[in-house]
Amino acid sequence: MTISTVGPKDFLLAVEDLTVSFDGFKAVNGLSLYVEENEIRVIIGPNGAGKTTLLDLICGRTKATSGTIQFHGKELTTMKEHQIVNAGVGRKFQTPSIYEDLTVFENLELSFPRGKTVLGALAFRRDRVVIERVEEIAAQVFLSDLLETEAAILSHGQKQWLEIGMLLIQSPELLMLDEPVAGMSVAERVKTAELLHTIIKNHAVIVIEHDMKFVEDIAHRVTVLHQGKVLSEGSMEHVKADPHVVEVYLGH
Ligand code: ADP
Ligand code: MG
Repeated sequence: MTISTVGPKDFLLAVEDLTVSFDGFKAVNGLSLYVEENEIRVIIGPNGAGKTTLLDLICGRTKATSGTIQFHGKELTTMKEHQIVNAGVGRKFQTPSIYEDLTVFENLELSFPRGKTVLGALAFRRDRVVIERVEEIAAQVFLSDLLETEAAILSHGQKQWLEIGMLLIQSPELLMLDEPVAGMSVAERVKTAELLHTIIKNHAVIVIEHDMKFVEDIAHRVTVLHQGKVLSEGSMEHVKADPHVVEVYLGH
């Protein structure tokens, strides 16, 4: 019988022994985390646990003090932010960063990845490709009827969807969302859960979230962070029943 060993390269994302120290304070402290393709992983934990910092490290916004982050076997810790985006990692921040004075269409169009087509004779064809893609993404994020609407007058939830659309149009393989349903109505939360289930067919998603109902609706697996470390990990049922999790997080 052969013994097969599972290594970092067997995962879409393998974070190993990751630490970042801010003036001696370890916001992320020896953390390891493995995400598979087509997985929705939810990260929960009390305020200050290091959740946002972990995403900052993965997307290259913050440099790790030690440890490794492998995406498709490629080391991210030595790459710059734009290289990480090009490698297929998209990140949505807590507050939407959309262009308020542009329409939904223009916001999506601006996010369409460029560089592969040349100007001139191909412009018409390229425009058609862009328009079709913008319409496809707008439908996914429930904004088909609002393409000509100025982003400024969208509801908070619609702005969040637009920003998710602006990431999706770049076809990232890994999408990271920091508290995507914060400030959303119950109906918008339900639709956002639907959206994540749809996009998971082509993407892996890491979501930071506090809303436990939403977490239950979407998570394949849950990772609980506490003081920069993994406190518990597994199915929602598993982490909910973990007395350590109840003590530091769910009990409050
Ligand atoms: P969470 O998202 O889980 O609420 P954060 O990752 O934002 O937590 O923060 C984790 C801890 O690291 C907090 O104590 C925060 O104050 C600290 N922290 C985050 N970023 C920095 C930074 N750039 N410099 C110093 N401390 C930071
Ligand atoms: Mg945070």
